[in-house]
Amino acid sequence: MIIFGTIAKILNSKEMLSYDCENCNSKGTVTFLFLARYFHIFWIPIFPTSKKGISQCSHCKQVLYANEMSPKMKQDYFMASAKAKRPITHYFGLFFIGLLCCMIIFIVYQNSVNETEYLANPKVDDLYKIEKNDTYTLYKVYEVKGDTLIFKTHSMSTKKYSGLSDLLKKYKNDYADATIKFTKDQIKSMQHDTNSEFGKIYSIKRD
Ligand SMILES: [Zn+2]
Repeated sequence: MIIFGTIAKILNSKEMLSYDCENCNSKGTVTFLFLARYFHIFWIPIFPTSKKGISQCSHCKQVLYANEMSPKMKQDYFMASAKAKRPITHYFGLFFIGLLCCMIIFIVYQNSVNETEYLANPKVDDLYKIEKNDTYTLYKVYEVKGDTLIFKTHSMSTKKYSGLSDLLKKYKNDYADATIKFTKDQIKSMQHDTNSEFGKIYSIKRD
């Protein structure tokens, strides 16, 4: 099954100029035809590729490429080619990718705004994703005392960042009883200094 490749579509030319055929001498039987290709995945247009045109005689079926046309015809051919526009749908994939990029940028921006807010006004049960000594774990805010945050640490750690999703879902209540304390300044250093002795904060989650 072909799941990607290129597809050619005939472009609608609004101005259909017609010419006399130099091959069979029929009157007004020669017209231009333009083909635009686009790259597709599962037949969904992703981005435009080539655009080509020909002239064709409806009587003798002679086909001419631009380099075989008379100078006058070639001039008209290029004018007609400029007017034969691709439909906007050929750009669907590009628009979609652009939209996706905008959404990702927005989400990343929104997360950073949220995290600034979570740091400024911490709440009990805020979850901090932490990297320390090449392992990842979770700290959960247990108590907020003025400028000091008291955390319970997750009883497990993982070698991979992606492993944190297991800690968040399967072992979401497995926190040690012991607590650790950080001042807000220490927390800030954990956010910006990747070599902080307290570990590094990857992100902050609030439900
Ligand atoms: Zn002809």
